[in-house]
Amino acid sequence: MKLDTLIVKGINAKDNPYQSVVPPIFLATSFVQNGLDDFQKYGYSRGANPTRNAFEELFAKIEGSRYCLATASGMAATTLAFSLFKTGDKILLNNNTYGGTYRYADTIFKNQGLKYELVDDFNTLNEDEISSDVKAIFIETPSNPLLRVTDIKRIVNIAHKKGIMVIADNTFLTPYYQHLLELGVDVVVYSATKYIGGHADVIAGIVTTNSDELAAKLDLLRNSFGSMLSPTDSYYLIKGLKTLSVRFDRQTQNTHKIIEFLSKEEAVSTVHYAGSYSKFEKDAQEGQATGIGALISFEIDPKYDCNKFVKSLRIFDLAVSLGGVESLVCHPASMTHDSYPKELQEKIGIKQNLLRMAVGVENSDDLIADLKQAFTKAKI
Ligand SMILES: *Cc1c(COP(=O)(O)O)cnc(C)c1O
Repeated sequence: MKLDTLIVKGINAKDNPYQSVVPPIFLATSFVQNGLDDFQKYGYSRGANPTRNAFEELFAKIEGSRYCLATASGMAATTLAFSLFKTGDKILLNNNTYGGTYRYADTIFKNQGLKYELVDDFNTLNEDEISSDVKAIFIETPSNPLLRVTDIKRIVNIAHKKGIMVIADNTFLTPYYQHLLELGVDVVVYSATKYIGGHADVIAGIVTTNSDELAAKLDLLRNSFGSMLSPTDSYYLIKGLKTLSVRFDRQTQNTHKIIEFLSKEEAVSTVHYAGSYSKFEKDAQEGQATGIGALISFEIDPKYDCNKFVKSLRIFDLAVSLGGVESLVCHPASMTHDSYPKELQEKIGIKQNLLRMAVGVENSDDLIADLKQAFTKAKI
């Protein structure tokens, strides 16, 4: 089956008691045993639950992974991955990464004896620059909010030679566009709150891996932290996921049209999207992914008022998050990346005039007309 068919038909109705076309929601917290030492498949829902399991089996098929764990949020997924490490270990991160991931490294790592270092460009990182205490590389490709692309095969090659684990956050592209485990990544995490759920109505996360050993550790961590996804939210993910291909096709089409418009717009000085930074990144993006996704960030020319621009938009809402069917715009410096100190924001290019746009499924002519009228009103 092709991916877009699997997304819809990946759950077999024969696997549930009444062959319902959508799986039932099992709210039960515990399940009856037939006798001492006579356990059934399910015992207590923190450890495993049939509805969560239905989602996990479906997502594992789409990801092409041996294991999949659904978590209470994207941050819970990242937390599980970070919890694989111990005192003295160091983790390398992109210099621009999800604000919550940076905040976790900058505040919680200390308590756990972990260290982190921000890497300006993973594409130019060489083996001999990596110190011996580095135990993991945590990558977002494309990154947030500058949409920088890392050549995954290259970094996996370098890391594995030194026995370093590679973890990647694939929230922005999902397996619809990018299969990171196939490229050698050890653990992939997702905020399913975004494109997987797709309708801005469920907070959820996912961890995938092909390693028996890592899967067992991650499962123990999730069961011990209690950071699993609820049955109801698991159902919402199954429901949302079914339309991923139609949503993401439309969102990506709209994104290409908006990029074309912004590139010619005099109010915009720079447009960032996956592969826009350099020929190297464009080639890496095209080699490892089948689409650029639906995120753009851009810098507004100083002759235009940023606040007036966002306030004048009628279709784009000013809000954090992404991946829902509605188009959103946000100001990373004061919203999603507020956890970064101001000097660091400036240094890595999260400027005051940078806006990030999450493109929805609306009509692209309406979206472009909305941007046009807001630029006109924002002119100083
Ligand atoms: C939103 C997001 C997260 C965190 O996910 P939550 O579901 O909000 O906890 C992690 N990584 C990326 C890239 C995100 O966009």
